Amino acid sequence: MPDTPAKQETIFKGVAASPGVAHGLAFVLLQKEVEVPIYKIEEEKIPDEIRRFEEAITQTGQEISHLRTEVAERLGEQEAQIFEAHLLVLEDKALIDETIHEMRTSKYNVDYCFHVVAKRFIEAFGNIDDAYIKERVTDIRDVTRRVIHALLGHSPAALGKHEGQRVIVSEDLTPSDTASIGKGGVSAFVTNVGSRTSHAVIMARSLQVPAVVGLHDATQHIDNGDYVLVDGYEGVVIVHPTEHTLYKYGRIQQRQRDIRKRIESSIPLPSQTLDGAQVRLVANISEPSEVKDVLHFGAQGVGLYRTEGLFLGNDRFPTEEEQFHAYRTVVEELKPLPVVIRTLDLGGDKRTNLTHFANDEENPFMGFRAIRFCLEHKDVFREQLRAILRAGAHGNVRIMYPMISGVQELIQANHILDEAKEELRKRGVPYDAQARAGSMIEIPGAAWTADQIATHSAFFSIGTNDLIQYTLAVDRVNDRVAHLYDPAHPAVLRSIRHIITTAHERGLPVSICGEMAGDPLYTPLLLAFGADDLSVAPSGLPDVKYLLRNIRMSEAKALTEEVMAQSDPKITATLLRRFYNEHMGELSDTSPGI
Ligand code: PEP
Ligand code: MG
Repeated sequence: MPDTPAKQETIFKGVAASPGVAHGLAFVLLQKEVEVPIYKIEEEKIPDEIRRFEEAITQTGQEISHLRTEVAERLGEQEAQIFEAHLLVLEDKALIDETIHEMRTSKYNVDYCFHVVAKRFIEAFGNIDDAYIKERVTDIRDVTRRVIHALLGHSPAALGKHEGQRVIVSEDLTPSDTASIGKGGVSAFVTNVGSRTSHAVIMARSLQVPAVVGLHDATQHIDNGDYVLVDGYEGVVIVHPTEHTLYKYGRIQQRQRDIRKRIESSIPLPSQTLDGAQVRLVANISEPSEVKDVLHFGAQGVGLYRTEGLFLGNDRFPTEEEQFHAYRTVVEELKPLPVVIRTLDLGGDKRTNLTHFANDEENPFMGFRAIRFCLEHKDVFREQLRAILRAGAHGNVRIMYPMISGVQELIQANHILDEAKEELRKRGVPYDAQARAGSMIEIPGAAWTADQIATHSAFFSIGTNDLIQYTLAVDRVNDRVAHLYDPAHPAVLRSIRHIITTAHERGLPVSICGEMAGDPLYTPLLLAFGADDLSVAPSGLPDVKYLLRNIRMSEAKALTEEVMAQSDPKITATLLRRFYNEHMGELSDTSPGI
């Protein structure tokens, strides 16, 4: 219940990013450089300031230790060592003593003094020409940020201090923020920026946490502790909701729960239309822990295992052994179901901070991303391929390259795959010697050379998230142009149809793995185009299956013919919605649309 019901109810409209309704106290997370307040303190207040500083240090220490344990459990002891370094920085007497000294002499508040002293340390370390010491600068920066957040009451550790679930309100979220915060104590995400196909949002949907993004200035209007209601179906955020609003949403939640129950009743049933046409439904995952959802929601395998999570948020890339361990876990748990492991798609909105690999680009989605990165960092690529090939000896594994733009890249990648096999053969370890890779078709250059790419690929997987952004020149994470990001645009639909037809003429199967595959509005089109597999976030699978089981291929083909004759995406969207509503009957208000 809201703590201050008398406050004025205010409604904000953003982008509906992850479905569901949730409410709770806001937790405003500021991950941008915070503005550190500066003010004078009286002599007699100095002991209070020191106590506040000590509490922040203790709180940060607990936060880091907690992270350390979590990472050790999830990724292993070696990965967790970075946090040892952070604890050392935190306990560094010089940093603490100098801050207190600075405060006694300048009589400024402790947040400001700590900020000044830490900056001095960072500058001094940064000037030393030694790679190891330079890496420590990153540690100091990270720890400093945590302490300052703790001093200002913005620390993630404070999350655990409050009873009940929190609504996270932030400028933006990275995919790893979403993954780590989304697992506990969070009922919804609200962000100033973002879009439905940013990786952080894709992750929120996987975790089934409601989200509204693209609110522009949510962090300015919502304060820590405000009671907030998030409607992830309509993209609405209500601050200080009235009793009446909460009651209304309680009823909506109840209805949604009933609808889900009915839709999820299709989980154990075959994925086929009323007239017997079959599409294989497989799952998109980002980490091994999602395997339980893959099984729970009845997927027939994994159509896209995004591997970037292993490479982000750490002070080094994972070793071959560590990767092998993660891939093998997934593969063995799902055996004999197929698992498509996508090679590293770093770049875009998944950027590494590692100094050796980092690069600041003006336009990261058009830049040094995915296969481009791997073809330049061949050692990293070969190491990952070896780990995947080795996992292939333990189950049913397929390799997939992201962001192929033309056949030459593919030939180079396949050459490196052959080298990786040769290395394993020499080493004498078990691996899948027959493995051939598939290509993601997500760049128009690849779509229109699909015939050439098919010659060197085992299968295609259409990444509609990127295919749409590159076809229409709409940055997929920029909410200013989100209205132009339109899967119903004829250029997008024609491209998808062309890719599938071209692949089928050459005997290649085609999967669709972008968010469009999980939107049941588009299921009839993708079915009629001839998609062999639809790869969807596990929790989204029942929605697609339910619709599929309530339509006929003949109807889907008739709809597709009508749609392909349209030039206006709005008319297409109306036709798709009408078809959907007709076939879902009383369950028809459930599709979020993409
Ligand atoms: C896509 O682009 O559609 C896709 C599935 O890959 P990602 O979203 O990871 O870029
Ligand atoms: Mg992509």
